[in-house]
Amino acid sequence: MYGAPGSVARPTFRLLSLFPLTGAACVSAAALGGDISRFAHKLALREQSDMWMSTFARFALPGLQRTASATARQALRARCHPWAAAAPRPSFMGPAHIRGHQTLGSASIPLAHQSVRHVRALDEERLVEVEWEDGGHSLYPFTWLRDNCQCPLCTLESAQARLLPLSDLDIHTGVDVVEVTNDNKVSIAWPDQHMSVFDGDWLKKHCFSAAARQAMQEELFLNERYYWDSKLRIPTADYQEVLHDDKAALAWLLALRRVGIVYLKGAPGEKGQVARLADRIGYLRLTFYGHTWQVQDKAMANNVAYTSGKLSLHTDYPALHFAPGVQFLHCINQAVKGGESEVVDGFHMAEKLQREDPEAFRTLTSVRVDFTDTGTDYCDFMLQSKKRIIDVDAEGRVVRINYNNATRDSVLDLPLHRVQPFYRALKAYVNIMNRPENVVTYKMEPGDIVTFDNWRLLHGRRSYVSRPDRLRHLEGAYLDWDEVMSRLRILRKAVHGDL
Ligand SMILES: [Zn+2]
Repeated sequence: MYGAPGSVARPTFRLLSLFPLTGAACVSAAALGGDISRFAHKLALREQSDMWMSTFARFALPGLQRTASATARQALRARCHPWAAAAPRPSFMGPAHIRGHQTLGSASIPLAHQSVRHVRALDEERLVEVEWEDGGHSLYPFTWLRDNCQCPLCTLESAQARLLPLSDLDIHTGVDVVEVTNDNKVSIAWPDQHMSVFDGDWLKKHCFSAAARQAMQEELFLNERYYWDSKLRIPTADYQEVLHDDKAALAWLLALRRVGIVYLKGAPGEKGQVARLADRIGYLRLTFYGHTWQVQDKAMANNVAYTSGKLSLHTDYPALHFAPGVQFLHCINQAVKGGESEVVDGFHMAEKLQREDPEAFRTLTSVRVDFTDTGTDYCDFMLQSKKRIIDVDAEGRVVRINYNNATRDSVLDLPLHRVQPFYRALKAYVNIMNRPENVVTYKMEPGDIVTFDNWRLLHGRRSYVSRPDRLRHLEGAYLDWDEVMSRLRILRKAVHGDL
């Protein structure tokens, strides 16, 4: 909520007008990642057409390359994955980049069907080695194969869930016989007489090489991001198309994941639209501010967003330990004067901070800051949380920004000598995000909905002149990334089939 979108028309681009045919190809590219086989062929054909010039392709297409780094791709070629034709190189605009992907050129594509040439058990290492027709090979631990037996005794197919309890899994099992079946599957006879049969494609996808695992992770989680600054032209889609067309909805969610912000135009100028949009995905996230909430200038405001004042760049709700992942804001009425919205790419700014001021980055990724929020809305609440301003994962990648100066607590759980360094670090980060070259400014009009990644973007609002006869009014809602990613995967499957 805090960051109600505001004014100045930023040139947005109409990606969805190109969609019905083109978007599909672009999107599918992004959607697939690890197992891009069949579709690679379609892509190669489409590459020759002008369709690739669709602005959307610039955002969605790089998903094709998410088999990750050039090194990983080389490894794939050498070992596990037989990659064939080169995929098209997307053209990126501006200074933005994909983290860890300076070279996007030579992504390759696997052949369609994974044929098993030979299989043998390496008893000493307790590994099954599969040799593929293309010459590559993969290794699978005995224990893992037994654990993932696909037979009806071990797997409940209707739920795609494991039946075999861990108590029944012999983690020291050997294998009696391993062979290639007539229909080119891998069969294993276990010492306890149990039989397992594994499909070649399934095994290939589950290869344990670093490159294959990376490809699978990207296919599942779409963690590659397009970093941007003030030159971003916010991806824009049509509200009605997103509601009614799966390809348009998929393109919306792919861009939301990759870029972090998508603008929807053409919603009715009345309440209820953010809830409809949430229904399109699954369900919205209830918080203490209600199922949806009304951003307006209110007397006795229980939140700084409910005034006509300026809101500095922030993420919403760091006072919750699990802050909402995605935010929708629908403009129902806009102020005549002021009320422009501002957004920055918090991940990109964190990367800049790490480069410019590693000490500050270390501080903000380690110090846990207290946040608080107290009041009454949906019901009464008294929240306390402890969050790092910049959350990184085990590999050191930035995964979430938690910063709202309004709800940062006066409780500061630090020894005296660490107080000043903390302020210095926070100031360094905020100074970077406030640089004009990093901020995108826009002014929402009635019927516009902005959807954005609340774990990544910081958003703000310029002050506005409040007029009782024409009250500025935005309706907002939250969702979580689990629900959004779930819908994205389902749409990807519906649009592109079983790829
Ligand atoms: Zn079994």
